[in-house]
Parts: sequence; C-alpha cells; structure tokens
Amino acid sequence: MRRKGLAIMAAQTVAVSTDSSTGAVDLGPAAALSCRECGERFELGPLFACASCFGPLEVAYDLPSGSPDELKKRIEAGPNNIWRYAPLLPVPADVADKPNINPGFTKLVKADNLARELGVTGGLYVKDDSGNPTHSFKDRVVAIAVEAARAFGFTTLSCSSTGNLAGAVGAAAARAGFRSCVFIPHDLEQGKVVMAAVYGGELVGIEGNYDDVNRFCSELIGDPLGEGWGFVNVNLRPYYGEGSKTLAYEICEQLGWQLPDQLVIPIASGSQLTKIDKGLQELIKLGLVEDKPYKIFGAQAEGCSPVSTAFKAGHDVVRPQKPNTIAKSLAIGNPADGPYVLDIARRTGGAVEDVDDEQIVDAIKLLARTEGIFAETAGGVTVGVTRKLIEAGLLDPTLTTVVLNTGDGLKTLDAVAPTTGPTATIRPSLDAFRDAGLANG
Ligand SMILES: *Cc1c(COP(=O)(O)O)cnc(C)c1O
Repeated sequence: MRRKGLAIMAAQTVAVSTDSSTGAVDLGPAAALSCRECGERFELGPLFACASCFGPLEVAYDLPSGSPDELKKRIEAGPNNIWRYAPLLPVPADVADKPNINPGFTKLVKADNLARELGVTGGLYVKDDSGNPTHSFKDRVVAIAVEAARAFGFTTLSCSSTGNLAGAVGAAAARAGFRSCVFIPHDLEQGKVVMAAVYGGELVGIEGNYDDVNRFCSELIGDPLGEGWGFVNVNLRPYYGEGSKTLAYEICEQLGWQLPDQLVIPIASGSQLTKIDKGLQELIKLGLVEDKPYKIFGAQAEGCSPVSTAFKAGHDVVRPQKPNTIAKSLAIGNPADGPYVLDIARRTGGAVEDVDDEQIVDAIKLLARTEGIFAETAGGVTVGVTRKLIEAGLLDPTLTTVVLNTGDGLKTLDAVAPTTGPTATIRPSLDAFRDAGLANG
C-alpha cells in the first residue's frame, strides 16, 4: 500500500519537474539524484523515491578535482558557516550572497571535565549545535532545502516535525522570503511550539504523534491541497539530508583535518547519522583527511528505540514502535533511515544504544555541571549513551571521541524543571543567608 503510494508520488513529481524546468537546475556540484538501493539516476528535481524500485534517492556529485591542499585553503578562506563547504553541497556557487539563515561552524568543545568524569583519556569533544540560529542542528538541513526550493520554484515551505525542524523552517522561510506552513504533534514542549510560531508562518498541531504527522504530510503532498509546496523532509529530503554532512566536515576541520576515532550521534529518522558517514567518506575520498577506521555509535531514548532494539537483536529490519519519552525531538517510531543506520553501525564496528528518561535528565545535568553546556533532551541521550557504552566496554575511552549535542536546553526546560530550582529562597537579610548555610567557610 505504502510503496504503491510512493510510486505514484515519484511519477507525479517527475512530471512536475519536467513541466516546470526551463533549463538546467543550478545546484553547484550536484549532478543527479541516485537511488540508494538500485543506483538508477534521475535528473535533479523534487523527487524522493526511485521510480523503478521505490528506494530513497540521494544527491550524486561531480566533486571538485584538484589538490587537497588547494581545496582546504579554499574552504578555510570561506565564511564562518556551512557555506565554506559549498563545493561539496547541492547549492549554487553564489549561495553565500542569498538570503538564508547561514547556520554552522558551531563550537567543538574539548570537554576535559566531562572526560574526567567518564574516564575518557583519549580526548573527548562535544560538537555543540545549540549555537545555530534556531538553536538546533536542523538549521543545517533546512538551509540546504531552502536553496533546493528556490531552484525548483517552490514558494511555500513545509515539513512534518518533532519540533526543532518546524522552528528552523519558520525562521528560514521568513528570512528567505517564502511562505511557510509546518506541522507538529499537538503535545510538544512549549519552547518548541513558541519557536515554531514566532517567525510568523502557519503552524498546525496535529492530534497524534510524529508518525501520524508524517503520514498526514505524505497524503497532503500527493493532494492538490499541497501542490507547489516544498516539504523540506519529504519531496526535498535528498537535498535536506545533505546538510548533515556539514557536521562531518566541521568536526574534521576543527580537529585539524583529522577523523575522530569514535562519534556518538542521536537518531530520530536516522538521516543525520547516515549523512555524517557520507560526509566522512567524501573527506577521505578527496584526500582532505587521512584514511583510517572510525566507529559510529547511534543513540536513542529507551521510550523510542526501534533502531537500538533491532541492533541488539541482530535484525536488519526495524520494527516500528509507539514513542513514549521526554526526548521528543528523537521520537520517531518508524525511522526512514533505520536500516541504513544499522548497516553503518555494524560496518564501522560501532553500536546503537539507548537510555531511559531518568538517565537522559542525569546526563543533561552532568554536561551542564561539567562543561557549562545546557543541552536539550537529545543531548542528554547522546551523553547518557556515551556513558553507558563506556561502562559496557563498547566505546574505547583511550580514543578520540566526539559526542553531538544537537539542541538547546532552553527549548526543553520541561525535562529538567521538576528536579532543578533554587538552592534556597530567603528574605533579603544577612541573617537569613547565614541560616541557609551557604556562606564561605
Ligand atoms: C531532528 C533531530 C535529530 C536527528 O534527526 P534525524 O531525523 O535522525 O536526522 C537530532 N537531534 C535533534 C535535537 C533533532 O531535532
């Protein structure tokens, strides 16, 4: 049923793209879309499923030729955002001159205090994507989708979102001059809802979980009601996904053009994890980093752990789950890229692990008190999973490890508010302060 729907969709969008195209689409080094399953190639367009086998499509490139040193210099001379990697992304060469939210080049924090707590001796880093314009990693993927939407002539941007994506689309649409109409589960954290609404686009709460929202959007996209809409994570998904490669590029550049030994990455749909792997592979192919093994570890919340459950059971297929966790940004019960995540974790010698809600809150507080970084629940998931993997002997504490924090704790205050507050509340008098027992000595 679902596959048939996708096939119809693929055929329709082919028609749309050929009708409306008046010349070659300029998305820089992007050469075509290719099917991840059968390898068939398609012209660049708003397509997401292979017309032959229904497999997911991804962007194929004519990557830059020339010496690695030249390319490094060119990148290093670029702007302090993801556009420094424009030669490796599906965007036009003059992308930095267009109105966009210009995310990226966030801090890679050497987390020595956290390393001491966790017993890591080989170098522990937190890639802190809370520093993006709407305070999550989603600005990276949306910035690329905006350029694709521009190239294909869409005027409305849309998405199905677990929260952060809705805010990123709202902001990018406002800045780049698109209308936006985004869809979220109705019961998200207040911080996510306000962030999604404040940029002035349309925000629709759907009575259901993310998988219901996603299903609704798939119907809308095949209906005249959604005609001409660019859904960043549906019909623009192949382009959107490429934004996550910039995390791989930045981490390696910030490590002095070196691969880390181990990465701990959160999983919602699994797109980010698979594209970070794609980015690392490209850097190796281009000679920008030395080729050596690295391990990729995936992190989920126990209350939504379809991929880690499959990993531990040794399965290749991912059985959908009904999410129930405070890590709402990762609460996708039927992750589109789940099987590819399993492949990558197994191929690189990594693993997929999960932590429960209490461990997530503990990990948020651990990162805050050791490094001064206030992560959203997804960051609690990666830090918590890192600790668990070290204890289980799966993550080697003597190797260089990068843990991703993909969002800002201010958006998920609800997670820590019940167990976090003032040490004391007192009258404004020295006596009262003395009685509270907090003075020096
Ligand atoms: C969306 C999201 C992710 C990862 O999403 P994928 O669908 O796996 O690419 C991770 N962290 C946060 C905070 C997110 O919002």
